Parts: sequence; C-alpha cells; structure tokens
Amino acid sequence: MSEDTQTAPEALTFADLGLSPKVLSAVTDAGYTQPTPIQAGAIPHALQGKDVLGIAQTGTGKTASFVLPMLTRLEKGRARARMPRTLILEPTRELAAQVEENFVKYGKNHRLNIALLIGGVSFDEQEKKLERGADVLIATPGRMLDHFERGKLLLTGVEILVIDEADRMLDMGFIPDIERICKLIPFTRQTLFFSATMPPEITKLTEQFLHAPIRVEVSKAASTSTNITQRLVKSGPKPWDKRETLRKLIDAEGDAIKNAIIFCNRKVDVSELFRSLVKHDYDAGALHGDMDQRARMAMLAGFRDGKLKLLVASDVAARGLDIPEVSHVFNYDVPIHAEDYVHRIGRTGRAGRLGKAFTIVTKSDTKYVDAIERLTGLPVEWHDGDLSTVVASEGDDEAPRRGRGAPRRAGKEKHGRERDRKPREETPVAQAVAVAAPASPAPVDNVVSDIDERRVRKEAIRNGNADRKPREHDDKPRRDDNRGNRRHQREEDDDRTIGFGDDMPAFMLITTNV
Ligand code: AMP
Repeated sequence: MSEDTQTAPEALTFADLGLSPKVLSAVTDAGYTQPTPIQAGAIPHALQGKDVLGIAQTGTGKTASFVLPMLTRLEKGRARARMPRTLILEPTRELAAQVEENFVKYGKNHRLNIALLIGGVSFDEQEKKLERGADVLIATPGRMLDHFERGKLLLTGVEILVIDEADRMLDMGFIPDIERICKLIPFTRQTLFFSATMPPEITKLTEQFLHAPIRVEVSKAASTSTNITQRLVKSGPKPWDKRETLRKLIDAEGDAIKNAIIFCNRKVDVSELFRSLVKHDYDAGALHGDMDQRARMAMLAGFRDGKLKLLVASDVAARGLDIPEVSHVFNYDVPIHAEDYVHRIGRTGRAGRLGKAFTIVTKSDTKYVDAIERLTGLPVEWHDGDLSTVVASEGDDEAPRRGRGAPRRAGKEKHGRERDRKPREETPVAQAVAVAAPASPAPVDNVVSDIDERRVRKEAIRNGNADRKPREHDDKPRRDDNRGNRRHQREEDDDRTIGFGDDMPAFMLITTNV
C-alpha cells in the first residue's frame, strides 16, 4: 500500500462489497483488510454492471477499484481468439504494466489470459496472446489501434471498457484515439472511467461515452505540502551552470538524500543530465519517453529496489507511477505548467515524513515561479545557502542576482575528458533546514482555473516548434489534434535523445522478467 492510501471511513470490509470468494482470498493474501474510499464507492456499482466515473488519482487505490470487480465479473464466460472481453486503456507503458501487475496479484486464483499491448516491444508476442483469446487486454491507445488496423483484434466482444488517467490522456493528445476506440466497442458495454481532474474536454468525453454513470469522487489521500521544505535555488542560465548548481545541492544534502527524483521539462535534458551525473560518479538513472520498454522497466525496478539513488525523469514518464516515497525532489527546470510543480513535489513528504523539494531557477524562469506561487497561493522561499560560487557565468546578463561570496565562472563540462574525473571540491552549500513549508499547494482540481493561461503558453511553445516534425511512435497519439497535445508534444520535439551510449549503469545489464 502506498503510505498515503486512505481507507474507507466506516468499518467496511471487502466482503461487504459483493466481491467473489476467489477475489476476496487474493485481497486477503495481499494484506488489505479495508477498502479505500474509491474502492468502497466504486466496487458495488461496478459489480452491478453500471458505468462509473471515478475522480481519483494514483495513490488512492483506484486500480483495485476496477480490477477487483472486473475479476469477479470475468468469472463467468470465456475469451475467444482475437476478441478480448475487457479493455483497459492507459496513457503510458509503465501504467499499463502496473495494471497488469495488479491483475496478476489479485487474479492469482483465476485462470485468465492477460495481454499487454504497449509500444517498445515486438508485435509478434502480443499477437500470439491475442490469438489465444484475452480475458483482459491492457493497452496504450496507439499500440492498440496498430493491432486493430492490422486486423489482429476485434473489439466487438468487449464487455467492460476502462479508461484510466483520462486527464493524462488529454495532456498527451490521446483524446481523438480514445473517441475512436469508444466508437469501435459495442454501446452495450460497461464503462469505468477514471480521471484525477475534470477539465472541460474530459467532461465532454464522459457525457458522450458514459451511460448514466455513478460518480465517485475522492480527494487526494493526504496533504503532502506541510511536511515538504520547498526552496528556490538561483542558478545561471546555461546547462552547465544548472548542472553544477544541482551537483552542489546534491552534495550539500549528502546522506540526507535517501533517494531523489530530478525532474526536467524536456527529455533531451533528461538524457543530458543523466549522462552528466553518471560522468560525475553519481548513482543516477533516467526515465523518459524514448527509452525502450526494457530499459524503462529496469530503471524503475532499480529505483524501487533502492539500487539507484537518483532518478532523472520527465513529467510524462514519471507521472502516475507508483514510485515509493522519496526523500528529495529536485526540479532541474521550473515546470512550465504550475500544476506539474504540485505533482512533482507531491512525490516527497508523504505520510507525515519530512521531504525536501528544491527548484533551480534562472532569471528567465521567474514567470513560471510566479504562476506556481499563484496556484499554491503562497510564496516559495529562496534557499539561503550561498550558491553564488556556482551560479554565475561571468558577463552573462541572464544570471540572477548574486548572493554572498566572490562570483566565479562556472566550469563548463567537457565531453569525454571529465568522464573519469571526480567532481571538483567546492564550498559546500549551506544545509537547508527542514521546517514545515508555509506553502500549501492547491488541490489538483483548482488547476482547471489556470487552463486559459496554460493554453496561451502552450500555443507559444507549439508555434516556436512549428517547423519541427514530431517523430512517429506507436505509443503516441495517432492524429495531429491540437486539443490536448501539451507536454507530450514538447517531449516529442526533442528527437535528438537516443539511448545512453556507454554511460549505461551496471544494474541496467541485470535481466528482468519484463
Ligand atoms: P493505486 O492508487 O491503484 O495506484 O494504489 C496505490 C497503492 O495502494 C498500491 O500500492 C496498492 O497496492 C495499494 N492499495 C490498494 N488498495 C488498498 C487497500 N484497500 N488497502 C491498502 N492498500 C491498498
């Protein structure tokens, strides 16, 4: 259980919800005694075949809220070749794989065929599974439509459709695919629909495709904000300035860092920063959309198992993942969308523990910091450590105001040569004091009010990149639709990022069962 998962207020048990004995036995073996609010609210209706609109985010136990009733309902009937009985759509490969793990865990007393259709792995294996007849089909929309177009899949037998993380689908530009898929599945199906927030596009989708849904809304499981020390850290604007600022912060935090996620806005920066950290002998891994599936799963497993201390990630790759408690979040870039800040820092400071979130800020980032402060309603303090020795590129008028101490030109990293060299010793950054942060991020739902402003920025970003063509990818949206293609589009524009070269961390070479 993630530590912030709440249980239902009343003394409800899983047995009260109407689940089958096989499912109840698997739930008991998983060690869960009480349903969470989303489970208590959704499961009885889902078992009756009703449509459900679940407004809940990861960490609330929402996966089990559709997996458990589906397992119970699937006990009657059998799958036919190429005609899956149920379909679960997930925005990312990792989320799809997580849902599969849930089916394996809770479905241990069932003999169900589960097929996972995600990009980055071969079509052949997936086709074989479809051919055998899938009781449960878990897919990302792009890969699913690929199979459909190849004639390997018929959707006319789907009895239950789950659309998970719908607002993420919107962010990633998947809504046209979702609409298309909904139209391919018989109207008589049951639809279980989950979204953390309800922007207008998602509401429209639910009005179009859900039939008299039961609405179950749960608030975020626990407030993360009061235990998180949030600090802004000044940096020079150049990548080498920012990388050095980050290294100084990491070094200053030292053993206080149990594990940390370092967020970048663009995947090209994920890759570059990861390589730089490895060169400087940091225990780092990376997660971004262009890595192949095996590498992504190995990275995640390494981070979850504590083999990897620092995970450099993009929002798209990391959001929604069931990543364990982390002690630190570093925003290498200030997020362009203020609500991403709330999501990012929410990775730490859970269940009453202290967490720290540092955001590296250059002069040109101030408008994004303003947006974050507007959203959270309170200012974020500046880090009072003396970073002046690392932030300044001399003569650079983009550099922010300098702090105490003599400014010094930051050393630019040289490719290859510094690889085996230890990072230079520098004046340590003063340790941030772990005090409760005054800022309390607004609930994610409030983010909707910020949508117009985001649209304007989104347009600017899109126009700036208009001459660059996004790469075709089988997990990516299939049509060039402007309605929701936000962060995803930004990531896709960074086509230069490929693989890790010879900076592959050793644990990546360990084979896993994925
Ligand atoms: P989810 O929101 O589906 O990502 O689930 C978050 C975490 O809560 C996962 O690690 C689940 O295994 C766990 N979990 C789900 N249901 C329960 C429950 N009723 N009691 C305790 N933990 C749960």
